Amino acid sequence: PFCFSIDKIIPSTEASLHPMDIGLIRGYGIFDFFRTSNYTPLFLSDYLDRFVRSAEKTHLYLPYSKEELAQIIHDLIQRNDLEFGGIRMVLTGGVSANHFSPTQGKLFIFCEDLDFPSPAKYESGVKLLAVEHIRAIADIKTTNYAFPVWHSAIWKKEGAEDVLYHLNGTISESSRSNIFVIKDNKIATPDKHILHGITRKRVLELAPATEVREISLEEVLDADEVFMTSTTKKILPITQIEGHKIGNGKPGPITENLLKEFLEMEKSIIQS
Ligand code: PLP
Repeated sequence: PFCFSIDKIIPSTEASLHPMDIGLIRGYGIFDFFRTSNYTPLFLSDYLDRFVRSAEKTHLYLPYSKEELAQIIHDLIQRNDLEFGGIRMVLTGGVSANHFSPTQGKLFIFCEDLDFPSPAKYESGVKLLAVEHIRAIADIKTTNYAFPVWHSAIWKKEGAEDVLYHLNGTISESSRSNIFVIKDNKIATPDKHILHGITRKRVLELAPATEVREISLEEVLDADEVFMTSTTKKILPITQIEGHKIGNGKPGPITENLLKEFLEMEKSIIQS
């Protein structure tokens, strides 16, 4: 496969990074990740906006405009004949003599296989563990996922799909997904201390009456339906949290309907 490395498309095996890049030394860098289907990058404009915003907020210099990035991505899809797959963009903090001040970062864009949840998970729903944690600088997609990578050994041992972050009784999100709760046909999702997901944005378009507000952990455990959203999970039902059954323990009708509508939305983009 080919990747975009710094300023050109090269064979992926030839890409390299200086060991003193603060992306490596301090975990200081940003990324974003989206899917292509039928050679079409889905919701690309939103992902590029978020990537540009992450660069600005972290004071990292991104040497390409949104339009130039879109062109690079189209070229990369052609070069890799990527009909269907994931694309990751990473911008590092750059080599820094004091290991602290960002300099000229390095941009890499590369293709990945997609790892979707199994159909069985959509049918029966998944389990989350509740964890007292809050992501630092949550609305920036930084490359630092040290906490969930470290913690994943625990949730895998428990047979959980992922975690639900909460602090002082208030929930925020999952490690790589946003959370929605439904009670008495009303949908709600948190707005603070989260990464504003592109899939979350699509759900808010499909269900514009969704309340965007603070949500307590108690409210989640007492909900009729709970689901998580992300680029690879799309809309995935959650039927158990920390040993509590959600609703009747099965994926609910509102979640299933939203997933159906989301898949139809994707299909119409791919076909157009
Ligand atoms: N929250 C966090 C912390 C994430 O890392 C992600 C995705 O990577 C999301 C939410 C979901 O965002 P998206 O729907 O854009 O994939």
